[in-house]
Amino acid sequence: MARVAFIGLGNMGGGMAANLAKAGHDVRAFDLSQDALDRAKAAGCLPVASAAEAIAGAEAVVTMLPAGSHVEAVYTGDIVEHAEPGAILIDCSTIDVATARRVGEAAAARGLLAVDAPVSGGIAAANAGTLTFMVGGTEAGFNRAEPFLAEMGKAVIHAGASGAGQGAKICNNMLLGAEMIATCEAFVLAEKLGLDLQRFYDIASVSSGQSWSMTSYCPVPGVGPETPADRDYQGGFAAALMLKDLKLAMEAAGLADAATPMGARAAELYEAYVAEGNGGSDFSGIIRRLREQKRG
Ligand code: NAD
Repeated sequence: MARVAFIGLGNMGGGMAANLAKAGHDVRAFDLSQDALDRAKAAGCLPVASAAEAIAGAEAVVTMLPAGSHVEAVYTGDIVEHAEPGAILIDCSTIDVATARRVGEAAAARGLLAVDAPVSGGIAAANAGTLTFMVGGTEAGFNRAEPFLAEMGKAVIHAGASGAGQGAKICNNMLLGAEMIATCEAFVLAEKLGLDLQRFYDIASVSSGQSWSMTSYCPVPGVGPETPADRDYQGGFAAALMLKDLKLAMEAAGLADAATPMGARAAELYEAYVAEGNGGSDFSGIIRRLREQKRG
């Protein structure tokens, strides 16, 4: 078992660090929040007073931070400075591709192995250890990171070179955002055409309109499996986080000169939904906004 530094013990990182400790690793945990440190201690980690203290002597350094600015600050401020020469650096945060590549280069310049490894799956998957990791980095980096990631997830996939993990994550979530809105629109139109929504689900879920948004995460209460729609759109994947990912996708599309008209429209619609005070509710709740809107 290894000594692991874990930095960023929030909604996601708290459960992930706990799973590494449960697997028998010696987890040195750091967060700016005392509450988060207390929870990590209760989950079997050793809370420490600084990122530098967590990193010293660690075989693996895992970060799960809000955004690119936090990751870059911790990498340039502490990690590349204090990491052991043979350590593997694993950033699981969802951040922009350019920053992911930059911190990967900063690590490589110091002879350190680093990968970007963002996740699919929310807080429940982080707690249960059933996340999917998409990893960007060299083959050597992937091979070093994989056993640690496997303790926190159900799938660990090598997406490609540095930044490819973030690229895969934002392409996936751009698809999900647009697909969820399209699924909501189809249900709203079906309803306005007088169809029974359960009957429409029964048809579309075995027809060519089927999607994950429909059959695993149906936005209509009482239809399909139990989802946040059945809990008044509480819990699940917050609309504010979907908006964050759509903005990252639009930024990446700009840099790559890729046409993403559906992604751009999804970003506008989630921006409006979040501005109306719905940032904390599940992203499938956007069906309520569509239902209230008129065509013209
Ligand atoms: P969070 O805000 O709950 O946790 C972030 C933690 O980082 C906080 O506890 C904060 O105190 C800590 N932090 C910030 N700066 C720090 C620093 N310099 N040093 C140490 N700690 C610091 O966020 P979260 O929901 O856990 O999300 C983390 C990342 O995972 C984000 O990039 C998010 O987009 C991504 N993500 C979240 C979900 C989700 O459902 N919540 C799902 C997939 C991916």
